[in-house]
Order: sequence, then C-alpha cells, then structure tokens
Amino acid sequence: MSEEIGQHLREINNRIMQACSKSGRSSDSVKLLLATKTVPADRIRVALEAGYTLIAENKVQELKEKYDALKTIPHENHFIGHLQTNKIKDLLKYEVTCIQSMDRLELAEKLHQRLLLENRQMDVLIQVNTSGEESKFGVLPEGAMELIEKVSRLDTLHIKGLMTIGLLSAETEKVRACFHLLKSLQQQISAAAIPGVTMQELSMGMSGDLETAIEEGATIVRVGTAIFGQRPTPDSYYWDESTKVK
Ligand SMILES: *Cc1c(COP(=O)(O)O)cnc(C)c1O
Repeated sequence: MSEEIGQHLREINNRIMQACSKSGRSSDSVKLLLATKTVPADRIRVALEAGYTLIAENKVQELKEKYDALKTIPHENHFIGHLQTNKIKDLLKYEVTCIQSMDRLELAEKLHQRLLLENRQMDVLIQVNTSGEESKFGVLPEGAMELIEKVSRLDTLHIKGLMTIGLLSAETEKVRACFHLLKSLQQQISAAAIPGVTMQELSMGMSGDLETAIEEGATIVRVGTAIFGQRPTPDSYYWDESTKVK
C-alpha cells in the first residue's frame, strides 16, 4: 500500500514540476493539496509520513472520523467541501486553517459570528463556479466581486484567493477557459485593492487537469484519485446541489 501511494506521489510531483517548467514557473510556486474524501486514515498517514502535509476533506463528518488517527502527525487541514451553516461549530473543532469553499454571504456571516465567540480568525478562499454547470457550488463569476467586498468587512475572515472546480471534460480548451476565467477574476479583484483582501492563492486543478491549471496560474492543485485511487462514492455526492446532503 505505502509503495503504491509513494509511487503515485512521485508521479504527481513530476507532473507538477513539468507543468511548472513548461510555463516558466518555479516548482515551489505550486502547492500539492491531497483531497482525502473517502480515503481511510491509514492511507492518508502514508502520504503525511512521506512529507506531503497539506490535506483537505469535503465533509465535516470525515474530518471528525479521521481526526484522532492523524492528529499525532504534523499536517495542515483545509476544507474544500460544501459547508452547511449548521456544521460550522463542528468544523471549528478540527483545526482547519483555511476554508476554500466560501461561496455565500450567509455562510460567511455565520462563520464570522462563531469565530468572534471563539476569539479566532480563519483564512478563506472564495469558490467560484467557472464552469457554468448548475450542479456545481460556488458564486457565479459576476457575483464574486460583490461577495468579496461584503466578506472582507467581516474582520475574522481573511480572504487569500480563489478556488474553482473546472469543467469535467476531456476537451482541454474548455477546461482551460474555466481556469483562465479564475485567473482574470483574480487580477480584477487584486486591481480593486479591497482592504484586507489578498489574492495570492488560486486553488484549481485536480488529478485530470492539473497541468492546464498550472499553465493558467494555479498555486494550489487538489489531487485525490491520482494518489489514492478511484473513490467508491461518485463525486456528485459531494458536489451536486441536487444530491441530498446529510
Ligand atoms: C475530490 C476533489 C478534488 C480531487 O479530485 P480528483 O479528481 O480525485 O483529483 C479536488 N477538489 C475538490 C473540491 C474535490 O471535491
């Protein structure tokens, strides 16, 4: 098991390095985040022990289930799933340093209130729906600036950039258009110089499209399948608004 995961991690690293060199970027300008939904803690441990320490879950329940098994190994947790407001309190128990899936004002306000109570702060990325697919979460591109202005006034939240899930398609140019859109939003928002908002992170690219994302400027790629293998649960369970979320 650990050999297989180690091998996959090396392959992903090579893909990242090649994509960086192709686009004239230094390889330390892209961070690898391990998307660990459905992956048992013992397999995640293997990756952490190999030195890959940035991981993310999509559901608070999974964060909770794996927490004890992983807490003895140094690592950083981000959150990349659709977050329901009634799960905020629970999520804050598990040392998440960045919520990449901030996509609506109601969520930001509730999170802010809870953080105030706990006297804490949180980094967030704004998730943008760049593919136009109704089933995907994320603020629409035309609403991103307004959401960011409003969220920026909540002083427990620090906006560090943008996140997107690209179109799941074999047509690279259509996928590229999603990433390109996120990059151009990043530039527009940077230019607006909103107090308290920085735009250094662009979280985009997954197992199938990380090269394209890096060419378009990704600073974080989120990889699951290419490291841990196929998941038993379809992604619609995590991504689709029409799927009943527990
Ligand atoms: C599952 C997931 C990923 C990783 O997808 P793979 O195709 O398995 O690499 C990335 N981002 C989000 C938000 C995810 O839910």
